[in-house]
Amino acid sequence: MRKIEKSPNVPATLVNAPVPTSAGDVRESIYKADDVRQQLEIDQHYKCAFCECYLPLQYHDVEHFRPKSHYYWLGHNWKNLLYSCERCNRSYKKTNFPLAAGSIQANSPTDDLTQEHPLLINPAEVDPALHIRFDKHEAKGITPEGKKTIEVFHLNDQNECPELIDNRKQLYELYKIEVDKIRTFEKVLQNPNTPQANIDVAQEGIRLCNKSINNLTALNKPFSGMLIAQI
Ligand SMILES: [Zn+2]
Repeated sequence: MRKIEKSPNVPATLVNAPVPTSAGDVRESIYKADDVRQQLEIDQHYKCAFCECYLPLQYHDVEHFRPKSHYYWLGHNWKNLLYSCERCNRSYKKTNFPLAAGSIQANSPTDDLTQEHPLLINPAEVDPALHIRFDKHEAKGITPEGKKTIEVFHLNDQNECPELIDNRKQLYELYKIEVDKIRTFEKVLQNPNTPQANIDVAQEGIRLCNKSINNLTALNKPFSGMLIAQI
């Protein structure tokens, strides 16, 4: 999971859309309109909002953070929409929207959403790194929100999501190789007897390793949120 900066420009289809007055009023042709989907794809760098896997271009799913079945009035609301993979949206999150004890759930458009304390992280609103850190490839919830989000989206579930876990493992290994190389080069530099030629090699080596790390942690790289949130 990684912080998402959604465009402040609301897609035209949503600007002109009616506010649904019931769950049956929520129109797929509106919240899944091409301009909505395309803007989410760009803002999220073609990655799932929750597990950060890469989503192919032909994937057309748009997810409601607050489920449209209950929060129908937010069914066409830009702030409530995220791009997510089928597994996270349809298999795991579905209509789940757990709230912290003491929360007052909004039941109508006039109710105050700020009285709710969702236990799922909306990466477009908060930095997930404040709630979920990573020990190597393993997600660790450091707040109730982080723990619940890991549980609901099965972010550590090797049995149900082997590909997700394996992809994160592989990325972490690539990252670790670069980090270890930098440490070795640093030892060379710390030795006062190192000849100038070797100092040059070590400095160039560190530069190249940092370039690789910048590439692995780039915003558009799947699972890069794991690397920037290492414990
Ligand atoms: Zn996902």
